[in-house]
Amino acid sequence: MPIRASVDHATMYRMNMALILNQLRRNAPISRAGLATLTGLNKATISTMVRTLLERGLLHEIGVNTPTSEVGRPGINLELNPDAGYLIGLEIGVGFISLIVTDFTTRIVARRYESTLDMEGPAAILERTLDLLRDAFRQYRQPDRPVFGIGVGVPGLVDTTSGLLLFAPNLGWENVALQEIIAREFPVPVRVANEANMAAFGESYFGDEQESRFLLYVSTGVGLGGGIVVDGQLLSGATGFAGEFGHMTVVPDGLPCNCGNVGCWETVATQQAVFRFVQAAAKAGRKTALTSIVSGDWRRLTIPAVVGAAQQGDAVAREALEETGHWLGIGIANLVNVINPRHVILGGPLSQAHAFLLPVIRETAARHALKWAMSGVTIGVAAHAADGAAMGGIAAIHSMVLNDLQPWL
Ligand SMILES: [Zn+2]
Repeated sequence: MPIRASVDHATMYRMNMALILNQLRRNAPISRAGLATLTGLNKATISTMVRTLLERGLLHEIGVNTPTSEVGRPGINLELNPDAGYLIGLEIGVGFISLIVTDFTTRIVARRYESTLDMEGPAAILERTLDLLRDAFRQYRQPDRPVFGIGVGVPGLVDTTSGLLLFAPNLGWENVALQEIIAREFPVPVRVANEANMAAFGESYFGDEQESRFLLYVSTGVGLGGGIVVDGQLLSGATGFAGEFGHMTVVPDGLPCNCGNVGCWETVATQQAVFRFVQAAAKAGRKTALTSIVSGDWRRLTIPAVVGAAQQGDAVAREALEETGHWLGIGIANLVNVINPRHVILGGPLSQAHAFLLPVIRETAARHALKWAMSGVTIGVAAHAADGAAMGGIAAIHSMVLNDLQPWL
């Protein structure tokens, strides 16, 4: 009985601490009285916990309330202390490694981006990744400023229970114990997840609180993947494979997909589908400015080139984006019916064409989804674009620290 009571007390303490820290993250600068109002905790509890957080350097006090910022007596404001420590977000992508360091308020203080196109094999890329982490630790880890953790996004299937990267076909990696390899050298918490899952969580964590609690993130480029956030939590599924909706069948007699199936959503709603449309139109004799841009080699075609042509009124470029936007809308309509999100976000390289894609996506989704499920759904473009997965890694670590501060107290 005494053991049970002490566990309950510890759990309650952790939950209250998390409540205070999450309100500070969203609403700082804020006074103790303001925190009491937002959390529903009594002022004595707030005072005790804030004192602990100030002593540990996780918060700091700033200024005095101006009469307009809060009705009632003025008080000292609080916010997360940016100098409390650092967080590292990392993306090992196809052809690049991207590393971001933020302070404790998740403001970016450093970034590194390296091309890995001329590197040979997984071992070389992994060693370069560890080198970048060594540099970051050398520069930022100090006795009074810990590195709170490392969040890593990778373009493959990750068993999130163990951090084992099972299969990343575009990297040529299979069964790499990524979490274990990184944690062996850097004794901080390490979280590894699929890059689109990481990006989805980041968009939710840093997005508007109400809008982002129920979020569908669709990342499209070479392939199509994404993530689902339900009530602020990433839906990872039993073993971490949730969000592989690029392989939903949408055209039963469609084109073959890399996964072995035919007619997957990925075959009609990625940049490959845009390029295929343009190339087929040109071969059929239609005039397009893109023919001269690639000068005979269609592998040179890029999404910025297609967007540029579409902006100039090129009919083929516009139709290619409209056709692909239509298919994106079909898949999103299906997912809206299943998940009932509040907000849908388009990310990944193809989202550079959002000015042309979003109107078609919105119209198609509205036509095909249940009107009740679609009511109030907003469809927009990712806030962190190319930084999505690395910032998702930052979000994963920041959320872990705020929700269980015990190891740092
Ligand atoms: Zn497939």
